[in-house]
Amino acid sequence: MAVWDLAVVGGGIVGLATACGFARRFPGRRVVVLEKEGRVAEHQTGHNSGVLHSGIYYKPGSLKAVTCRAGKKAMEAFCRDEGIPYEICGKVIVAVTDADLPALHKIHERGVANGVNCALIDKARLAELEPHAAGVAAIHVPEAGIVNYRRVCERLAEKVREAGGDVAFGARVTTVRHHPDGVTVVTPVGEFTARQLVNCAGLHSDRVARLTGRDPGAKIVPFRGEYFALKPSAYRLCRNLIYPTPDPQFPFLGVHFTRTIDGSVECGPNAVLAFGREGYTFFRADPRDLLETLTYRGFLRMAVRHWRMGLGEMWRSLSKGAFVRALQRLVPDVRADDLVPAPAGIRAQAVGPDGGLVDDFLIAEADRVVNVCNAPSPAATASLQIGGAIVDRLAPRFN
Ligand SMILES: Cc1cc2nc3c(=O)[nH]c(=O)nc-3n(C[C@H](O)[C@H](O)[C@H](O)COP(=O)(O)OP(=O)(O)OC[C@H]3O[C@@H](n4cnc5c(N)ncnc54)[C@H](O)[C@@H]3O)c2cc1C
Repeated sequence: MAVWDLAVVGGGIVGLATACGFARRFPGRRVVVLEKEGRVAEHQTGHNSGVLHSGIYYKPGSLKAVTCRAGKKAMEAFCRDEGIPYEICGKVIVAVTDADLPALHKIHERGVANGVNCALIDKARLAELEPHAAGVAAIHVPEAGIVNYRRVCERLAEKVREAGGDVAFGARVTTVRHHPDGVTVVTPVGEFTARQLVNCAGLHSDRVARLTGRDPGAKIVPFRGEYFALKPSAYRLCRNLIYPTPDPQFPFLGVHFTRTIDGSVECGPNAVLAFGREGYTFFRADPRDLLETLTYRGFLRMAVRHWRMGLGEMWRSLSKGAFVRALQRLVPDVRADDLVPAPAGIRAQAVGPDGGLVDDFLIAEADRVVNVCNAPSPAATASLQIGGAIVDRLAPRFN
């Protein structure tokens, strides 16, 4: 049986960035990534909006704010060095009505505090940047960008292998055994023994944390984000990235228009409770996942607090007309005929037993194990920095 220095559970962008950061920091040490699917980035990372977030939204000093700023720079440098296309195209965050203005100003203040290049703009300037966006004012963020994170992951996996490591597919971790020198993880493709383990299992990170003997203190609740794509004849409606002013009560940004690096324009995502952690359509349910969610005290408390919002999102999920109306608040000229369904993504959102949505990234450390318990957006943007921070924590164990 091969013995590894580090095993990383999860071949999404956080796991791969961690493995790659480790291989770079400790040449000669061996790292293996254990991924249950047949290729990298099959879940959150391969189903996201592909935005390089600027860090404007996040509480100054939070892990999200700090790692997003540094992570974005690192991601741009990685893409430049590795020949991965990306574009700094800029984005607008729009106050659709006067009622959005206080929240818009607050976001601008945060952006300034976080060192983001951003400016409050009036209606006339908004019309120059995005002629089809409707709003009374906006924030222009010239440094926001777009990239294909699946392509980033494919290159990260190659780099892990080039450094003597491995990425094992079909390797769903089902058991973790501790012993004095390390941990052994059991998968259908064999057992892997490593000195240290990092859990980056995304939608299943709380379960994997429990396999390692740790209670993550929160449970993952899956929120599906559904998209439509504009037909090419309607691409003119969105030049770059058009976002609404988000509801400050929620970590989700509201349905937006995103030009992708591959040339299409996506509209979404909404945020609907998924009936399974991999329930990518409304009717795809996993009874075990659903029961676990519906009987979780934290979920029930959250549902009581936000039932109105939840029902609205459900309705937008079932009714294309309702989804289109939400998009028309931002871009009134968009019509149902302009839109075709596009693949959904599912967000892994940690919810505490008090019903609170864990806002910041959450990384918990124990003997021989680091658990990434909450890594929602902007974790793709921030991934290289998150990976670096995890390697910093592991470093004393390898020096
Ligand atoms: C709809 C949507 C839009 C988003 N938009 C953006 C955006 O524009 N910009 C941005 O920065 N962020 C965005 N995000 C957030 C970002 O995509 C995620 O934060 C990021 O991808 C998380 O990466 P991850 O590696 O933690 O998780 P994942 O990508 O989900 O990877 C976890 C991996 O672990 C594997 N796994 C799970 N359990 C096991 C097990 N037991 N054994 C082995 N493997 C296992 C899974 O198969 C999976 O591949 C978005 C997310 C969603 C869902």
